[in-house]
Amino acid sequence: MSKFWSPRVHELTPYVPGEQPKVRNLVKLNTNENPFGPSPKAVAAMKAVVADELKLYPDPESERLCQTIADYYGVARDQVFVGNGSDEVLAHIFFGLFQHDAPVLFPDISYSFYPVYCNLYGIEARPVPLTSAFEIDPADYRCDNGGIIFPNPNAPTGCFLPLMQVEEILKANPERVVVVDEAYVDFGGDTAITLVDRYPNLLVTQTLSKSRSLAGLRVGLAVGSPELIEGLRRVKDSFNSYPLDRVAQAGAVAAFEDEAWFRDSCDGVMAERKRLTAALTDLGFEVLPSMANFVLARHPDHSGEVLAAGLRERKVIVRHFNKPRIEDFLRITIGTRAQTDALLGALKEVL
Ligand code: PMP
Repeated sequence: MSKFWSPRVHELTPYVPGEQPKVRNLVKLNTNENPFGPSPKAVAAMKAVVADELKLYPDPESERLCQTIADYYGVARDQVFVGNGSDEVLAHIFFGLFQHDAPVLFPDISYSFYPVYCNLYGIEARPVPLTSAFEIDPADYRCDNGGIIFPNPNAPTGCFLPLMQVEEILKANPERVVVVDEAYVDFGGDTAITLVDRYPNLLVTQTLSKSRSLAGLRVGLAVGSPELIEGLRRVKDSFNSYPLDRVAQAGAVAAFEDEAWFRDSCDGVMAERKRLTAALTDLGFEVLPSMANFVLARHPDHSGEVLAAGLRERKVIVRHFNKPRIEDFLRITIGTRAQTDALLGALKEVL
């Protein structure tokens, strides 16, 4: 608390990101990073920028990157927006595309930044409970609202909502913006970008942090109708006209151009997810079906908190949430084969 802060700052409830421990030699499976690393072509493109171009401002519109993304997804340039991580894109959405005089709906178990943005902009947050199977039920998204947002696959459950059901939510809310946060879609889900031309109220967000293994670069994107994208650009230009630096723009373009690396990386994560799920099941865990680069799992005889602490003593970091309904679970990021083996070895000692 400080007398120099405005009253609004005293009321904020900031997001607490997953821990980024300084110690090396940890098996770090707590923040859904992708251990396979970015495309070497993206790294080379970024090095070239660092060597030569940093004295110049970046392109404020990220033209080349937006065109690359538009071509990649088969949409028009004016349907694409980019930002400094999808967190920044989400911040602009909450400010500029949600109505602030009605509650914003999102699943009660989902990305914990959503209520934080509601708090920042003075919007009422209305968490909607998941079903008993930890799934989103479109029928629950029919009440009056100022906008709707949900991750698909959801986080931290990993459950994927089929696009037919996404369409049910879109059809029931034609006057409201519905945001599908596809941070984890590349690990087996189907993207709703294929629906944007049919639903002017649909906005899809994605990130390069997960499937393209560039969490440190901070690049996120949104695809939707030109009307929604124009709204986001107005917000951006009122906030930070240069959100993406030159390194990020060059690295992101090259990452989208290296399809072979991207495919191998996603396939690697999905293969390891299958192996980890089977091994955890053999150890007696219940594992929710995941289409993401993490799994949510609980053991009938051991609390999530105790298991997470036991793993930590053995230098394996996973995520435990002190949240109703998932307090018994561990969220485990899919790592390399060696990391999975280390996790399983440590778990066998703890159980
Ligand atoms: N949405 C969801 C559901 C996430 O889990 C995350 C990552 N924590 C983000 C968005 C933000 O990703 P980034 O800002 O790295 O693009």
